[in-house]
Amino acid sequence: MLVLDDLTVRYGDRTAVAGVGLDVADHEIVSVLGPSGSGKSTLLRAVAGLQPVAGGRVLLAGRDLAGVPAHRRGVGLMFQDQQLFPHRDVGGNVAFGLRMHGASRAAARERVAELLALVGLPGAEGRAVGALSGGEQQRVALARALAPSPQLLMLDEPLGQLDRSLRERLVVELRQLFGRLGTTVLAVTHDQGEAFALADRVVVMREGRIAQSGTPVEVWERPADEFVARFLGFANVVRGTVHGAVADTPWGKVGVPAASAPGERSLLVRPAGVRVLPAGSGLGCEVVGRTFRGEHVLLALRPERGPGLESSVALRGAPEVGDRVGVEFAASEVVVLGG
Ligand code: ADP
Repeated sequence: MLVLDDLTVRYGDRTAVAGVGLDVADHEIVSVLGPSGSGKSTLLRAVAGLQPVAGGRVLLAGRDLAGVPAHRRGVGLMFQDQQLFPHRDVGGNVAFGLRMHGASRAAARERVAELLALVGLPGAEGRAVGALSGGEQQRVALARALAPSPQLLMLDEPLGQLDRSLRERLVVELRQLFGRLGTTVLAVTHDQGEAFALADRVVVMREGRIAQSGTPVEVWERPADEFVARFLGFANVVRGTVHGAVADTPWGKVGVPAASAPGERSLLVRPAGVRVLPAGSGLGCEVVGRTFRGEHVLLALRPERGPGLESSVALRGAPEVGDRVGVEFAASEVVVLGG
């Protein structure tokens, strides 16, 4: 459906998107994830036709979009900086794009009612935009973007302004809604929870390039390199020398999965793979932090050698700050990273 071929975008002599290649299939939901400044918004704006392209091509359903103005591209936009029109009511906001595309008043009215029902605001046509909650405004913005049945829907930090619990609920609704409608979606976010919950595929960007692309499970289980691992919030990353089924690391010997490539590598140990033992066995550590995470507790540990460790343990019987413990590493929770 959407093909980006060696896409490059520059601001003056600063390259914001550097030769990105990306295919989005029909009905696929792709989340572009990355730290602030990695080029996510610029990528989206270039696809939308809001930002000139310095090199490469954007193809939508086989059509080269070079020279096609934004409003003729057949893409729906829901951008953070595109507020609702405050002087129009809800119905007027949703109907805006339809009327621009030449829909009759009656046809627009019918479509608006359908969309408001779809986003969970049936009968809200006459409500004033200013009287809506943040979540309701997001739903109206979504209905507005979906109204002209775009070939591709693009979302830029769609839920960024909302509080966490509402965001978590809306993201599930969005995924169900897009699935039902068969919408092709390219979404941009810096929030990994949102990206992983929404997408069929996650694309992680770093400095204008794609650092990794894969299903949420693939990226979560096998981060491509140290950058992606740290961006996903994993803290237990060290350099080590892999030989056979073990690696020599600053923490001592760490078991690695069978058939790991030998040599000097970056290793990730997931917090669940740092198993707590009674003091006196394994690598000695002091518990320096303890964060309640619902089902489990995340311990911050200061080992007697090597950098700090995070360990995820069951709530019941979790050690306290100041306790001394030992740890061992579970090879099944170790990932040998690329790069
Ligand atoms: P992200 O969406 O990942 O936060 P952006 O696409 O906004 O990243 O920005 C990518 C890079 O381009 C950053 O280095 C940013 O400073 C730069 N940039 C973004 N917009 C402009 C602009 N209008 N003029 C100059 N540089 C810009």
